[in-house]
Parts: sequence; structure tokens; C-alpha cells
Amino acid sequence: MERNEEGQECYFIVVKRSKKGLSRGSIGRADAETAAGDLIGMVYGRGGGARSSGMVKKQDTYPLTRHQAQLLLSVSPTSRRLELLYNIQLFTAICALAQDDLVVVKHKKDLQPCLVKNVIQLGKKDKPGVLQKLGFELDLVETERDILSKKSAPLPFFSAADIVQVAPSHLNTRQPLRDSGDLGLKQKTVSHINSMAGLNSHNSEKQSILLNTDVSSSIHALSHYSLEVGSMAEVISLNGQTVYGVIRWIGVPEGKKNCWAGLELDNEVATCSDGTFDTKRYFTCEGSKALYVPLTNCKPDSRFLFIPNEIPKPVEPPSVTLLEDLTEDVPPVAEQDVLSRLVGRMKGIQGHFNSCYLDATLFSLFTSSTAFNRMFNRSADTEEGISHILRWDIVNRLRRSGFVPAESVMKFRKQLGCKSFATEEKDPEEFITLLLKHVLHIEPLLKIRSHGDSAQDAYTHQIIVEKNQVRAVPSVQQLLEMSFVSSNLKFEENPSCLIVQMPRFGKKFKMFPKIIPSTELDITDILNCSPKECFLCGHLAEYECVQCLTDHKLQPGKIKQYCSTCNTQVHIHPSRKEHTPHKLTVPDHLPEDAPIQRHQMQLFAVLCIDTSHYVSFVKYGPNQRSWIFFDSMADRCGDDNNGYNVPVIRSCPEVGDFFSQSEEEISKADVSQCSELVRRLLCDSYMCLYQRTELAETFVMC
Ligand SMILES: [Zn+2]
Ligand SMILES: [Zn+2]
Repeated sequence: MERNEEGQECYFIVVKRSKKGLSRGSIGRADAETAAGDLIGMVYGRGGGARSSGMVKKQDTYPLTRHQAQLLLSVSPTSRRLELLYNIQLFTAICALAQDDLVVVKHKKDLQPCLVKNVIQLGKKDKPGVLQKLGFELDLVETERDILSKKSAPLPFFSAADIVQVAPSHLNTRQPLRDSGDLGLKQKTVSHINSMAGLNSHNSEKQSILLNTDVSSSIHALSHYSLEVGSMAEVISLNGQTVYGVIRWIGVPEGKKNCWAGLELDNEVATCSDGTFDTKRYFTCEGSKALYVPLTNCKPDSRFLFIPNEIPKPVEPPSVTLLEDLTEDVPPVAEQDVLSRLVGRMKGIQGHFNSCYLDATLFSLFTSSTAFNRMFNRSADTEEGISHILRWDIVNRLRRSGFVPAESVMKFRKQLGCKSFATEEKDPEEFITLLLKHVLHIEPLLKIRSHGDSAQDAYTHQIIVEKNQVRAVPSVQQLLEMSFVSSNLKFEENPSCLIVQMPRFGKKFKMFPKIIPSTELDITDILNCSPKECFLCGHLAEYECVQCLTDHKLQPGKIKQYCSTCNTQVHIHPSRKEHTPHKLTVPDHLPEDAPIQRHQMQLFAVLCIDTSHYVSFVKYGPNQRSWIFFDSMADRCGDDNNGYNVPVIRSCPEVGDFFSQSEEEISKADVSQCSELVRRLLCDSYMCLYQRTELAETFVMC
């Protein structure tokens, strides 16, 4: 049997579909390696038995330890195995799970905190040619009253893919069931069972869990807000004021029965101590800043609301370097994976030295858009150089692990050709053109015909309107139509991506205090050659009149396209005698009554600027509430010279709720009463990014 230097057996997972037809996610064991770099071995079926043997290209595989292979083997469908493997932080934590560790699993659509009771083997007996699957036997964690009053139903066997979170505090305090490389088969804590029959609830054990305050406080924290030592929290004081601070200690103070938190407040409060509570000291801080309250009185600091994922320094597990070797691109993050993979502190692209224009633009383009990803995949990727850095150090990393360190971005910036890109704040549109044209060699996204002349190429479209042409709070739909019609422009082709710049000039001037970012954009009326409806009677339109556009008797602001009958009728009116409607290009041989196909695009990101800082909103899926907010410099650790920026991604479904209202309601809304993120999206938009709807819908996982 083939063994590597440490004498371990060599397991692998197929990461790229091979010519021999092994599907991605197949797990196997290599018995030998040919001189040409092919692995000879076998793959395991779902039951763990050897299914077929043969050869697979080593470069199409990724090496696994036996323990990893066993954990992944219990995951189905096989495509889920790779998703889990690519979620590096989570998978590393799952591989190290031990008895009594606290995890959160997805159980019957709910998220449920559980304690690991056992790592169990399932399936056929361990014999040559068989790899036993590993899964987890878990104990449901309930509130104190639940456990004392009723028995809980036994939980089924869980695979590694059911675990969505591992409590970090527990990882440090316990020894894993196995040592890092080898599997702890000989250790007695691993039980060997072949059926579910052995799983019963154990009330006595659960009571003992409750007495362990460390565990119960963590359970509380996980099932409520994930508050732990180091979390930023807020407490409402007796006089109704909110105070903020960092949790420095969690436990049961002498003389108390439940879990308390010791906070170091941001500001001194006369009644607070320097860390003592009654006569005991649980931590030390300066002055009168230590406040002790029951943990249940603490809430996460609402000024930085995110799912806490405290990483003191961006330390990545060593497996990252190995995974970087994978030859396969990571697809955009699917809607259902965004919250678990992306949301939190130290997530997204880490900002550094005026990089926010670039961080926010890259995040907008690459996180979730499938249409943009198609172009990206078709673009040339040279083995070396800047496009390689972009693909491997930034895009794949962002999608796989949710975090890109500042060093990767700086490496990329330094290769952008002009030194100022690495040091100065730039305009996103300048960067986008450079990125698409010179880095990725993508054809211009837009072909725009002006006055019937030949079409011009462009990567973005700058909206140009006059203030009185649209409503006081216009939508992007209105602005784009007005911008096109008033300059007599038409899209020559239906674009797959459309990047629209709002009518504002950098940081200094914005024409509209608020703009509604239309989530759907209908470009039928500004698409050359596509059949359009008569504004009045709905038949095929043949004329367009720019002067009619602002006619107050005719729904001002709406595009006016007419069939030839209505065109004549409308322009009989004396006030419209001077109008000069022009003929539209109508497709040949179109049946009179053919239904008119609408061409729609979907919003996938909005770049915003507030004073001189760029941030990004991403609409990451069709669900109305699928919105996240990204700021590459949301927080900072350390001082200006020695610190680093903490990028943060927040989930903001409230943005979706707000923009599901009618435009009428939105334009009347009092911004000072809206949530901060709603206000920013409404008032600070700089660039809206759209993709073609049908491309978004046909997205399939690889
Ligand atoms: Zn008509
Ligand atoms: Zn007219």
C-alpha cells in the first residue's frame, strides 16, 4: 500500500471531473502513483465499500487524511463534500471535534445547539477495502426548564455537513479525540455502532452538563447572540441609558446562581469598579469601568451588529496553502451559503491604505454575480501575473473562505500598471475599466448607438439627466431611461452586465439627495431593434418622441413610443405641433399581434460613497431580503502604525424589506427614521450593477 512520508495511507477527493467519469466529490484511496503523476487506487461507494478501481490524474484530486476522508464519506450528495472542504475554517474545526464540544447543527430546518456525545462509525465493518464513514452522535441542548421537565427525542446520526458552527471557546480547552494526523480508532471514546438503537436521551448526563457553568454560558451565548469573552456588548442601565463595553469575563460570581458577565465599559461610570465585584476580582481594568450584570442582560453592541466571529488576527489554518493549489475555480457564493460563509468580522476583503475603492468594487463584482462570473471565466488567465493574482489570491479565496487579507490586495494593486493605484484613492469607474479591459481583456460590456450613428463601446454608463426631467426621488429605472432617451441613445445589444453610474460627481456634488436602486431594470424601451409597445394603445411602436417625454398631460418621465396611428393623433394637438418624433428601428417580418418580450436585468450590487469612503451592498440572490453590506475598513485593531483594518460583512434583510415598498412610499420615507444601512443605500449610491435575469436563473453549481 502506498504511504506518504509519515507512513499514512493516502486518501483523496476528486475535485475535477476526470475523463474516466469519476464525479467531483468522489473519495478514494491511492495505492500507487505512476511516473506520469497518475494515482492508481480505488474509490469508495456510498456504503464505504470499494466501488471501482483504476487511475485518476493526481492534479484532479486533493489529498485527505483518513479521518477527513471518513468524515466526508458520510456527506451526501457528493457535491456537498467539496463545499464543506472549501469552508476551511469550519471544516478544520469539525475535524478537531471532541466529546462535549459545542456545535450548532441544522436539524429539521432549525438551527440547534448540541453537544458532541460521540464520534461514531457507520456502515460495514472495518475490513480491507472498506472505509468506514464517520459521523456524530449529538445531544440536544435545551433550556434548563426543558431538560428538567421533559424527555427529548433521540437525535439521528449527523454527518459533518450538518454542522454549521463550532463553538470556538471549546476548541481550546479540550484534547481532540485523535491526534492530528492519525485516527484515534484505538481510543475508547470512539464507539462502534451499526444502528441507531443505542441512541437514547440521558437525563442524568444533561443535568451534569447544566452544572458546568462554562458550558451552559456558552450554550446561552450560542443559542442567543453568540456573546463570549471579547465580544462587544451593550447593556441598558437602570436609568434607561445604553452603555457599551467589551465582555472581559463570563461565569457565576460567588453568591450568584446564574451566569454573569463582567464588562469593561467604553466610559467611566461612577458606580462601577476597576474589576472587583463584591469583594472578588474577576478581571482588572482602569478606573471605574467594570460593570457586572447577568449575561442575559447583555446584547451584542448594536453599533457593530454582525454575527460575531472574533478572530484576533487573520490566522488561517495551514491547509489554506494546500487548497490554494487546487486547479479549480470556485463559483460565486450561492444564496444559501452567504450567511454562513461571508457574514461576520474579519470577513470580505481587508482594507489597507486607501484601498476601499478597490475592495468595494471587487466585492461587488465577484461575490455573487453569475453573469459577471461567466465573463470572468472566459477571460484569459495567464499562469503568472496580475490576472492570476486576481483569480487565485482574491476571487477564489473570497468565495471559498470568505476572507482576503490586505497583502493579497496590495500584491494586486502593485501590478495595476500605474503606481498611484497602489497608493491613492481612485474612482471605481476608472478601476473597473482598467480591470475589465487591461487585466481581464473582457470585451466592452455595452454597445450604445447614438442618434442612429455607429455603436460606441463602453464598460460603464454615466447617467446624464437634468434635474427637472425626473421625480424628486427618482429610481434607477427612470434615470437610465431618461438618460438614454434625452440623448437619443439605444443599446445595440442586450448587455449581460450593466454598470450604471449615478448622476453625482465624486464626493462633492450629488444631483439627487435620494435615489431608489431599482432591483429589477426593464431595458426593453431602450434596446435598439427590440419590439416595443405603443405608449397609448399597446400595439407595436414605430416612433419615439423626446419632446413628449416631459409633457405633463402624458405621465411625465415615461418614455413615449407610439404606433403610427397614435403618433399622428398625439401630435395633432397644437401644443405638440413642433415635436419631431423619430422612427424606431423595428424588426422585419414581425407579426402585428406578436406579444412583446420584456428584457429585464437584476440588481446584484450597489457601490456607495459617504464622504470619501466606499462601501458595497450586495443583493446575493433572488430572495427579496438577500442583502449584505460590506465595509473593508469597518473597524481597526491597534493604532495607526501597528494596527490592521477589520473588514466586516453584515446581513441586512431590512434593506430588502424597505425597498419592497412602492416607490411612492419610499420617496416619502423619513430617512432619519430608517435604519443606518437603508439610509446609506438610499442616499449614498454611486454605482448600481445589474446582470441579465435569465443568466442569473440558470446558475448551476459547477
Ligand atoms: Zn398606438
Ligand atoms: Zn411628441
